[in-house]
Amino acid sequence: MTTENIFAPTADRRVKRGWMNLLVTRVIHETPDTDTFIMVDAEENKRAFDYIAGQYLTFRFDNVGDKPIVRSYTMSSSPCQADHVAFTVKRVDHGLISNWLCDNVRAGSILRARGPIGRFCYDPAHDKKHLFMIAAGSGVTPFVSIMREHVNTIGKKGSPDKMTLLVSYRSTKDLICWEDLNALRNTPGCRVIVTLSREHAEKEDFLHGRINESMLADAIAGDYANITFMSCGPQAMMDLGRTHATSRGVAPEHFKTESFES
Ligand SMILES: Cc1cc2nc3c(=O)[nH]c(=O)nc-3n(C[C@H](O)[C@H](O)[C@H](O)COP(=O)(O)OP(=O)(O)OC[C@H]3O[C@@H](n4cnc5c(N)ncnc54)[C@H](O)[C@@H]3O)c2cc1C
Repeated sequence: MTTENIFAPTADRRVKRGWMNLLVTRVIHETPDTDTFIMVDAEENKRAFDYIAGQYLTFRFDNVGDKPIVRSYTMSSSPCQADHVAFTVKRVDHGLISNWLCDNVRAGSILRARGPIGRFCYDPAHDKKHLFMIAAGSGVTPFVSIMREHVNTIGKKGSPDKMTLLVSYRSTKDLICWEDLNALRNTPGCRVIVTLSREHAEKEDFLHGRINESMLADAIAGDYANITFMSCGPQAMMDLGRTHATSRGVAPEHFKTESFES
């Protein structure tokens, strides 16, 4: 990835180094098993640090187990929301930290984190002008950040001309960050296509089933020469996307993945 224009710190970027304390100011219950945590910097006038949409933080939990535990969470807020940062956590069955966060963290809690880090971002110097994204479940978080960041500058320098998100959830109860994504459905240059794996909701304009070849073909609509393809979710979904895109001529450098599974 070409990095010179977006990854290098500049004089007006506030880049943090080392572990920082983040104060949780609000918790949003997105769905029965997913919460968004809104945070400010507890140390430096509450101003959020700088990051690039798609990056993540590494959190350290000193008092949850016998020894410190670290986990990564992508920011679901966007850098243009300069007064706060947010991350969105989906409970994993029997998962230690995802459940601890959703059960225990409230407004007033302090979380310890390091970052931002990661290269799963839109790179205007290198990427194609149609950003095509696929996600399942909590894998939508980097794309919520990226779409929030570019929605008001679509077609302008530094942003894509077009953003398409194809996202799979289990049911209408599991629509993470839906208020923002639903608004984006009616924004020129943006498309949000939802498919539900365990519910039929055609009246709401949702597809049914897991992301498959025909959904990809319909959503891309022949625009393979102009897409950078980003994918975040289960390995099988990412593999399907890679095979679909590369077999239709999308170059490997225009296919990016982020895995949340260790
Ligand atoms: C770069 C990066 C960014 C991430 N961003 C997010 C985010 O924005 N939101 C979010 O909710 N999660 C995100 N994750 C996943 C997160 O870091 C944790 O792995 C997840 O919350 C589970 O942690 P846990 O302690 O609850 O589960 P653990 O106690 O570590 O695991 C319990 C069991 O669940 C399985 N498991 C672990 N993680 C997953 C998973 N993601 N999906 C399915 N099964 C799993 C394990 O194999 C194990 O069997 C991200 C991970 C990475 C690497």
